[in-house]
Amino acid sequence: MISSVLPTYARAPLTFVKGEGSWLIEADGRRFLDFGSGIAVNALGHAHPALVKRLNDQAQTLWHVSNLYNISQQKELADKLVELTFADTVFFTNSGTESCELAVKMARKYWYDKGATKRVEIIAFEGSFHGRSSAGIAATGADKLVKGFGPLLPGFKQLGWGDLDALKAAIDDKTAAIILEPIQGEGGIKPLPDGCLKDVRELCYKHGILLILDEVQCGVGRTGKLFAHEWAGISPDIIMVAKGIGGGFPLGAVLANENAASGMTAGTHGSTYGGNPLACAVGTEVLNHVGETEFLTDVRRKAELLIQGLEGLIASHPDIFESVRGRGLMLGLKCKVTNTDVLSACYEKEFVAVPAADNVLRLLPPLNITDEDIAVALTRLDQAAQFCTKVLESAET
Ligand SMILES: *Cc1c(COP(=O)(O)O)cnc(C)c1O
Repeated sequence: MISSVLPTYARAPLTFVKGEGSWLIEADGRRFLDFGSGIAVNALGHAHPALVKRLNDQAQTLWHVSNLYNISQQKELADKLVELTFADTVFFTNSGTESCELAVKMARKYWYDKGATKRVEIIAFEGSFHGRSSAGIAATGADKLVKGFGPLLPGFKQLGWGDLDALKAAIDDKTAAIILEPIQGEGGIKPLPDGCLKDVRELCYKHGILLILDEVQCGVGRTGKLFAHEWAGISPDIIMVAKGIGGGFPLGAVLANENAASGMTAGTHGSTYGGNPLACAVGTEVLNHVGETEFLTDVRRKAELLIQGLEGLIASHPDIFESVRGRGLMLGLKCKVTNTDVLSACYEKEFVAVPAADNVLRLLPPLNITDEDIAVALTRLDQAAQFCTKVLESAET
C-alpha cells in the first residue's frame, strides 16, 4: 500500500524534532551537529532569535494579502537586494525551481520584444541542477531527472562543464542565454574557475546574450561573498536565488539588471504566494545579518579553519577521503569509499552532512557556525572515518 506521504524520497531513518543553532535534536534525544543546514537553507542555523522574533512579529500583524496590493515587506527586501548587488530589480518566488521558471521566461521575453523571436535556446551544462519543474529538468537534462517525463520543454542544450570551446561553438543566432551554477551543488561541489566565469561573461557580452547564474545553493553568503559570482568580479544579467535567503522559511527570488528585465511588464508573470509578508520579513532579517561585511569576512575565516582541518582529516584517512573542494562553507569531501556509507557512519556519530553526485559528501554548516562546533565536526568526521576503516578491514579478513 502506498504511504500517505507520496514516496518520492529515500529518507534517512531520522526524525528531528527540534533545532538549536547548529544542532538538531532527534526524537530519541540524540544531539546531531548539523553540517547540512537542510541543504544550505538554514543560513543562520535553527531558531535564530532575531528570525523567530521577526517571524512572530509579522505573524501577529499580517500573513498574506496577494500581489494585488503593495507589500511593504517585499519592497524593503527588494530595496536591500538592489543596494547590495548588481541587480536593479527583484521578483520574489517560493523556491529555486520557480526562480528557474522566471529566469527562462525573462530571457525569452527579452529577445521576443527585440523581434528576435527565434532566439529561445538556453545553453546549460552537464552535472547541473536547476530544480524539478519542467524548465528546471529540461535545463538540467540529466536522464535521472527527465526519464519518463517527456515531452520535455524544448530549447535547452547541455555542454560539458567548463568546456569553453564547446560553448564558443554552440552559440548561434538561436541562443538566448547561458545558465550555470558558479559552483555546482547537487553535481558534487564543482566550482567553475573564476577565469572561466569571466570568459563566459565576455562571450555573453560579445554575442549580446544573457548570462543567468543559478545561485540557489551557492548564494546568500554561502561562499563567503554575498553571491558567488562576486569572487570572479563579474556582473551577471539574471540570478536565481532561494534556499539560504529565507533562512528556513520558503522564499526565492530572481534578481536582474534593468536591461534583462525589460520585457517583464505588468501581467507577464505572477505568483500568489511569492513575496508574501511573512517570507519577506524573515528574508530581510536574514539579509540584515548575512549582508554585513564583517559577517562575510567571518564566513571566510571559518572556511579557512574548516578546510585546514579537513586537509588534516584527509591526510589521516587516505583510504576514505581523496580531497576537499568548494569555497567558503560550501565544501565537498570527495570520498574513496561510497559517500552514502560515509554518511551512514556520520549519522552513527551524530553528525549530519549531505551526499552529492561524483561520490562527494557535502558540508554545508550554518554560516554562523562557531569555531568550537567546527572542532566538534572535525572530531566526529574523524570518528566516522575510523568507523569506515574498521568496516573496510573486516571486509578484507
Ligand atoms: C536546490 C536547487 C534548486 C531547486 O530549488 P528548489 O527550492 O528545490 O526548487 C535549483 N538550483 C540549485 C543550484 C539548487 O541547489
